[in-house]
Amino acid sequence: MALVGIAKLAAQASPLQHKRSVDYLQLATRSILNPCSSQRVPFEWTINPYRGCEYGCKYCYARYTHEFMELREPSAFERKIFVKSFQAAVFRRELAAVKAGARLAIGTATDPYQPAERRFRITQQILEILAQMRGLRLSITTKSDLVARDAPILAQLAKSHCLHVSFTVTTMDRRLARLLEPYAPRPDLRLRALRTLREHGIQAGVFASPLLPGLNDSLASLRFLGQSIFEAGASYFGANPLFLRPCSKQVMLSLIEQRFPKLLARYQTLFRRADFLDENYAHQVRKRVEAVRREFRLAPCPEDYLPPEAADPQLSLFEPSWSGTPANAGR
Ligand code: SF4
Repeated sequence: MALVGIAKLAAQASPLQHKRSVDYLQLATRSILNPCSSQRVPFEWTINPYRGCEYGCKYCYARYTHEFMELREPSAFERKIFVKSFQAAVFRRELAAVKAGARLAIGTATDPYQPAERRFRITQQILEILAQMRGLRLSITTKSDLVARDAPILAQLAKSHCLHVSFTVTTMDRRLARLLEPYAPRPDLRLRALRTLREHGIQAGVFASPLLPGLNDSLASLRFLGQSIFEAGASYFGANPLFLRPCSKQVMLSLIEQRFPKLLARYQTLFRRADFLDENYAHQVRKRVEAVRREFRLAPCPEDYLPPEAADPQLSLFEPSWSGTPANAGR
């Protein structure tokens, strides 16, 4: 049958852009809260509401976590997003194991405010339950401006816990950011969200990790970033050099080859034998970061504090105003 009208026009339409498809899948999980015993990280508990991350940063070393599910194609990490099943009652029971003053980090493996959060709101539900408690040390790491949606809940959390929100901003150069972090919100949007949180009295800062040789590690680039985050009201600033696991090495080196061919030989040499850059490079960039911190009066890390009432050992971790059964009742 010959096509006519809009059907004919549709058949003749030429492609303008192919938008990648992303699948959201429900992942049955036994726990949302995971213990962490590593001495190398400053937290005892982690929460990652999603497995996989739609932002698709080229340097992302968390890609290997999809390999545990036999999803070995690197792009699967950013196209198959697993949403962990969440039940408030189960989460409350899990929190019974958390002691007062413990450090709980949200978003250590994947972004808790990636696009899936707009739809599924798992992070928001977690925060709402934590807001019924007191006396923890909470941290959130994100590249998303969606975190500003939760500013009122975060402000409440900051009154009864030690809380800080760290934004990852590797560069203020939008074009470079688009290449490195293709589906993440623009750097200026992240800083706008940071400002919103600061206006709500929430401690927030920036980590510029990873620093990538020849791309975002110059003093000029770091100074511009330092000035931008200072103007946004950040209270701390830090950065670590690039680290490439085998899964991210393939993705990152392919980007370097296609978009920064002059840097390819350097990257191949730097990462030939190890996943880490050498101490010499780390020392150089550390000095640059320190100089920027000094210039813009930024602290190297968030302030560790506990609101006075949260520090009272006589008080339960759960607020008495909460009407459900406390998770630590009977223990
Ligand atoms: S935002 Fe973080 S978890 Fe997500 S892709 Fe980028 S580096 Fe990986």
